[in-house]
Amino acid sequence: MTSKIKPAVQPTLQPRTIARQHRYLTWLSLSLMSFLGLMVLIVYESRWVYPEIQAYFSQTGSLTGQQLSTRSRVYLQNAQSELLSDQPEQAAIDAALINIELSYGLFDVHVYRRQYECTEPSLRDLNRLVEWLELGEIDRVAAVGELFAPIQCLTHIEMSQLDRRGVAINDFSESTRQHNQVLTYSSLLIFVMGLVFWWLHERQLRRTDYATQETFEWMQRAMRDPLTGIGNRSALHQDVLAKKHQSLGLILVDIDFFKQYNDAYGHPQGDTLLRQLAILIGETLNDEAQLYRLGGDEFAALIHCPDIETLKRYCHQLIEGLREAGFAHPAHPDKKGVTLSVGGSRFVAGEHTFAQAYEAADKALYRVKAAGRDGWQVTEDASPLHT
Ligand code: GH3
Ligand code: MG
Repeated sequence: MTSKIKPAVQPTLQPRTIARQHRYLTWLSLSLMSFLGLMVLIVYESRWVYPEIQAYFSQTGSLTGQQLSTRSRVYLQNAQSELLSDQPEQAAIDAALINIELSYGLFDVHVYRRQYECTEPSLRDLNRLVEWLELGEIDRVAAVGELFAPIQCLTHIEMSQLDRRGVAINDFSESTRQHNQVLTYSSLLIFVMGLVFWWLHERQLRRTDYATQETFEWMQRAMRDPLTGIGNRSALHQDVLAKKHQSLGLILVDIDFFKQYNDAYGHPQGDTLLRQLAILIGETLNDEAQLYRLGGDEFAALIHCPDIETLKRYCHQLIEGLREAGFAHPAHPDKKGVTLSVGGSRFVAGEHTFAQAYEAADKALYRVKAAGRDGWQVTEDASPLHT
């Protein structure tokens, strides 16, 4: 016998689908976490880094201060050149005065007055020098000498401003480096946390998967007859409920004189016959039926059955199929091979209709037994249709 037995239990659980849904949740939560991490970094940037940059640019505002002092100093040096030039005295003084005025305008700024002590005296010196030059109270060479102190002050301011610029740049580089470090470590932390969460979740998922799979297998086992591998009584109930409102045929099969068979061949051989019959019934019903062993030597078959004729045809096929198989039965009282008694009924699947159909098929089978066995009967609406 080479046929396969059609599994009676259809898997109704979908463990992998559940696992996949969990996975989506994991990735969703990881994305949310990354998003939150990024938000934290953005807040960090706006609260700490941008003010740093602003501070840098406000510091570089003093670059302008440095440029002012440079220009102012150049005007004073121009004034010196004018005074030392060999042009007529009045022209030289006029040119020098213009340069001194220009220098004064750039020198007289609040920041310099506030930050550099030499500013006030230098500005006073320049005022006094202008007065002397205008009144002709000082000669050209002496005037050149008077300009050295303000030039020295402006040079000092230039140097100081350049130093400040260097400090500002260093500070900014340092804070940028620290900021980059914070960013790098934060990203790493988020990444590692993501990995850890992912790993924890995967582990949990694997355990759930395993438990679900085990439960699923146990449920399948609980629905299966261990001897023949076909479904058991519970599977029959479950399948009927799964086919609610469908037009079905229920066929009950009982081996005739199986006790005697066991007595003649022994129990192990009896088991073999049960297995062989499970395969044979499946083949005879063209693999269209779902098979069950209800216990002992009783089998059931559930078939799609649009009309009573179909049911009769299947019952007939069963008896004929067994006859053709010709299983020996040395202890059969009628000197036949193994024979079957078959009872059938047709019903529209549902909880209550199934109980009625079972009773009707059982009664039909009993009638076959009572009539001498090796035959079939069907019952429709609890009334015998064929004898
Ligand atoms: P009948 O024609 O009236 O059905 O007679 P029978 O001898 O078949 O009687 P019945 O169906 O009541 O007996 C079933 C027998 O099946 C009883 C028991 O020895 C045997 N049997 C029950 N379960 C198993 C099993 O798992 N393996 C074997 N080998 N025999 C079993
Ligand atoms: Mg029997």
